[in-house]
Amino acid sequence: MAKNVYIVGAGPGAADLLTVRAATLLRAAEVVLHDDLVPQEILDLCPASAQVINVGKRCGQRSRSQEQINALMVWHARETEAQTIVRLKSGDPAVFGRLGEELDALRRAEVEFEIVPGITAASAAAASAKITLTDRRAASTLVMVTAHNARNESLSKTVEPARSTYALYMPGPDYSKTVQALLESGQEPGTPCAVVSNAGRQNEEVRYLTLQELASAKGISAPAMLIVGEVAAEHPSQGHQDLLSEISTQSLPKGREPYHYDRLPIHPSLG
Ligand code: SAH
Repeated sequence: MAKNVYIVGAGPGAADLLTVRAATLLRAAEVVLHDDLVPQEILDLCPASAQVINVGKRCGQRSRSQEQINALMVWHARETEAQTIVRLKSGDPAVFGRLGEELDALRRAEVEFEIVPGITAASAAAASAKITLTDRRAASTLVMVTAHNARNESLSKTVEPARSTYALYMPGPDYSKTVQALLESGQEPGTPCAVVSNAGRQNEEVRYLTLQELASAKGISAPAMLIVGEVAAEHPSQGHQDLLSEISTQSLPKGREPYHYDRLPIHPSLG
């Protein structure tokens, strides 16, 4: 077996929402193959000597095919001296990240791998919108679904729409089309939703709307998550926000304290 590739979740995009294991691996990495959604703040944790390669499909210039990404990962693991190869993917690597194809390639090439989970965008978006995805009074199902799937399948009708929360990844850029698909899957036009751009980052933006309002909403920045269902109704006590922020500005230091990853324990497999 060839050496380990670490498939690491980068979380929603703030360095302090990484797991300790992810941060430790990045600090030890010799090669990092990362997606486009991973911000510089996180890549800055890699040593200056590391080879950091953007393999994102959206990066302006040349985009790599999934086969090229698989081949690059296998090549670094089998043909180079690098001991710590990190494949860094946004959020949780196993949620809508085409991880299946990458794992198949690693298994075929007999490369050992370890998966380090991350905070998925649905969790980050719910936290930003100050809602619970599975409030037991409103939802008994949580559906993580993509608005862009490989087979163009319609949103599943197997769950009870009124008692379900949908956390839609990749809901844009055509929100009217996504709303149409949700209505066809049994949601009502008045169903509440929260659209959260840049969840967990400093520039996060949360809007609470109904599906009907969302269909014609303008200026929603990417990346965004769409949470649909009764749980996403704007909370009546959202008005207490001012009081809460007053308390937190009194009791907390201003701005974000940088995290000192060098004070954290080293991952056992890295010695
Ligand atoms: N593996 C990732 C999802 C990859 S699909 C995860 O677990 O989060 C990419 C989609 O995730 C984006 O189109 C967007 O819908 C969502 N996304 C990723 N980061 C986000 C963020 N910080 N805020 C809102 N949505 C985000």
